[in-house]
Amino acid sequence: MSRARPFPGVSAVNPLDPSGLIQLVATPIGNLGDITFRAAESIRQADIVACEDTRHSRRLLEHLGIREKELVALHDHNERYRATALVDRVKDGARLVYLSDAGMPGISDPGYRLVNAAHEAGVRVEVLPGPCAVVTALAGSGMPSDAFFFGGFLSVKSGRRTRELSESLERRETSIFYESPHRLGGTLEILQRLAPDREVCVARELTKRFETYHRGSAAELSVYFSAHPPKGEITLLIRGAGKD
Ligand code: SAM
Repeated sequence: MSRARPFPGVSAVNPLDPSGLIQLVATPIGNLGDITFRAAESIRQADIVACEDTRHSRRLLEHLGIREKELVALHDHNERYRATALVDRVKDGARLVYLSDAGMPGISDPGYRLVNAAHEAGVRVEVLPGPCAVVTALAGSGMPSDAFFFGGFLSVKSGRRTRELSESLERRETSIFYESPHRLGGTLEILQRLAPDREVCVARELTKRFETYHRGSAAELSVYFSAHPPKGEITLLIRGAGKD
C-alpha cells in the first residue's frame, strides 16, 4: 500500500503513537456537580496533574477522592519555560492532565503554550470538553448565538476599554467579555454613553446558587447596577448591531 507523502509544515500525531498524552481538562465554573465522568477518570489515570494553582486543584481532587497525585504548578508566570520540561516527560511516556482554576484551560487562562509546545514536539493532545463561562453565558442570554465575538477580559485602561466597547457596538454579532464586578459599573457607564439603547446582558455567578441574567438597555443596566453594586463572577454580553 502506498504511504501518503507528508505535507511540509503540517503536523499531526497518530493516536496509536506509543508516547504519552497531554489532556486539557475542563473543570467546574462554580458547581462541582459539573465535573464530567471522563474528566474524573482522566485525572485518576494521570501520572502528572499540572494546574494553574495546586492548592485550588487539590481541593477538586479531594472532592473526587483522588489523593497522592503529583501536582505541578503551571501558570501564566512559568508556562513559557515549564511547558517544555513537562512535554519532555510526556515524550518519555507520561500521561499529563492540565487543569486551570475553573472552566476550559486556555480560554482566558493558561494552557495554550503547553498545547503549542506539545504540537511542536509531536506529542498527542486531547481536550476533554466541559464548563466554560463564555459558552454558558451566551446560551443563557437569549442573544443571537449563531456567531459571536469573544474579547476575553476588557482592558483595565479606560481609553482602551472605551475603544474595545465601541468596536463591539459596530459588530453584527453578539460580543462577550469577562468582567470583574468592581469594574462593571464603569463599563456600563461607557456603554450607556456610547449606545444607551443597546441591549446588554450581565450573566452573574453562572452554575452557582445566585446565578442571574440581568438584561436591559445599557442605560437601564447602568442605573440598576449603580444602585445594586454586583458581587461574584461576571460575563458581559452586548447584542450585535445586526437585525434579529
Ligand atoms: N477558563 C475559564 C472559562 O472557561 O470560562 C475562564 C477563566 S477567566 C480567568 C475567569 C473569568 O471568567 C471570571 O473573571 C468571569 O469574568 C468569567 N467567569 C468564570 N466563571 C464564571 C461564572 N460562574 N459566572 C460568570 N462568569 C464567570
